[in-house]
Amino acid sequence: MIKVIKIGENIFAENQKIAQEIRKILNNKKILSFNVMGAPGSGKTSFIEKTVEILKDEFKFAVIEGDIEGTFDSEKFEKFNIPVVQINTKGACHLEANMVKGGISEINLDEIDILFVENVGNLICPAEFDTGIEKNIVVSSITEGNDKVLKYPLMFKVSDICILNKIDLLNYIEFDVEKFENDLKKTSSETKLIKLSAKTLQNFNIWIELLKELKEMKK
Ligand code: MG
Ligand code: ZN
Repeated sequence: MIKVIKIGENIFAENQKIAQEIRKILNNKKILSFNVMGAPGSGKTSFIEKTVEILKDEFKFAVIEGDIEGTFDSEKFEKFNIPVVQINTKGACHLEANMVKGGISEINLDEIDILFVENVGNLICPAEFDTGIEKNIVVSSITEGNDKVLKYPLMFKVSDICILNKIDLLNYIEFDVEKFENDLKKTSSETKLIKLSAKTLQNFNIWIELLKELKEMKK
């Protein structure tokens, strides 16, 4: 008799269980949390960095950085004097709930209001793993070309918010904003689109206002 073990299903079921635990923990503490996903170079780190910089006197932040190796991104948050945890996935190209749980256990949750998790730069499997983090954000930049929604639909479907970044470069790069918007509407009508530049801060206030609204709803 041959016994078939469906490894994939077990992994996902176990992941789901831990994600559920994380949701419970963060909810009990009334912490607003974001799982920031997107391709390498889309601007995930600078998006989080600018957000913390603007709101650091208003809210207490913590950041969990997921990278295959190194502490390059987490070092950027040292200047804010906030809790930062670097997760090195040792080759894994996405964060799983157990990794996030390990990260959260390093943070004093009584002392934070908002948690950012920066996922590994990748448009594919981060979308497949529930991290237990409340809101999924995908950062897509206009330099990546405007076919990303149709090529990686799951990433956009699982994201509550889509940040279209680097709009300051619209004059220099061929990018069809309308097509991107239409693709997103067709693929995931519930996903909220915000077009901004984390560099020049153009439209960044729209995101800041949304974050404040979401935080208000946690009370
Ligand atoms: Mg980064
Ligand atoms: Zn992966």
